Amino acid sequence: MPIRKKVTILGSGSAGLTAAIYAARANLEPLVIQGLQAGGQLTITSDVENFPGFPNGILGPELMEEMHKQAERFGTQFIYDNAESVDLSSRPFKIKTSSDEIITDVLIIGTGASAKLLGLESESKLMGHGVSACATCDGFFFRDKTVFVIGGGDTALEEATFLTRFASSVTVVHRRDSFRASAIMADRARNNEKVHFILDSVVEDILDVKEGQVTAIRLRNIKTNEVQELPADGVFVAIGHKPNTELFQGQIELTETGYIKTDGVKTSIKGVYAAGDVQDELYRQAITAAGTGCMAALEAQWLLENEEAEAESEKKTLASTKAS
Ligand code: NDP
Repeated sequence: MPIRKKVTILGSGSAGLTAAIYAARANLEPLVIQGLQAGGQLTITSDVENFPGFPNGILGPELMEEMHKQAERFGTQFIYDNAESVDLSSRPFKIKTSSDEIITDVLIIGTGASAKLLGLESESKLMGHGVSACATCDGFFFRDKTVFVIGGGDTALEEATFLTRFASSVTVVHRRDSFRASAIMADRARNNEKVHFILDSVVEDILDVKEGQVTAIRLRNIKTNEVQELPADGVFVAIGHKPNTELFQGQIELTETGYIKTDGVKTSIKGVYAAGDVQDELYRQAITAAGTGCMAALEAQWLLENEEAEAESEKKTLASTKAS
């Protein structure tokens, strides 16, 4: 038997859980399909220092756990699975997980984004053997080691600083000579004596696939073309994220870069809303994701209320036509 819902939310990051809190408090008994990375990107972050209300910061996983509890408290139902397919061709929409079929009047998409990789063969072969896309998850394994962090954004510089808790040396490799990262994050990394920088440089290769572990990194300076090979124990790739929109391709309008196109949180399909990183290429913050999650739930509530009122008034008109 399919599960019948008014509101279904895909994703359990900051966007999805905030949408769930609002929808649950509007008595819409939402269902959240959590996805395999339950809690979203904040579960692989350490300290979150920019979410209002936590003057001393809060750990990412803890913040998500609290949001989950808050959504559950007001009657949100959770499915601990991935959505395998969605059919948005007509309302109500259909979603399939590995074991359930869900039929829903409204769908809120909060599937977020995933870490981008460099695309080197050695990177994928050595993933988990010295190459990582998550310093918070794997930093612990690099005690007294030499590691490299690739990227010049806030993530790269935050991870570089975080990794100095374990590693003996952390080198940030960035393809330009100026950072995308905020000044405070860049200064924090610059002021840490364990952090070094190699600028204007790209990764040509990570060695040594034959040995099954990271032993060195080969870098090329893009201005001088000079290539250098440096001993390394770990390589952390922190070059941004790509939106998780594969499920919706060909069904909903996407931007050129693959994000869901939205007007506010409205997508190209009536009854489908998108919130958080899956539709936000610019801000990509936990707090903006939460904000758009709230907006999506309110839009869902208003749509359903309007449709119910219209159906009620049609019923009344029909009854009075029959009576006369
Ligand atoms: P960004 O997109 O901001 O930065 C990605 C970095 O990786 C850029 O420096 C980019 O270079 C580089 N890059 C991209 N592709 C490649 C490639 N193929 N090879 C080499 N380098 C590459 O992503 P972040 O994950 O750093 O940050 C995302 C958002 O999260 C931002 O808004 C950030 O402010 C926020 N954030 C906030 C934190 C906090 O406040 N505590 C912590 C972490 C993130 P280039 O600059 O040349 O484009």
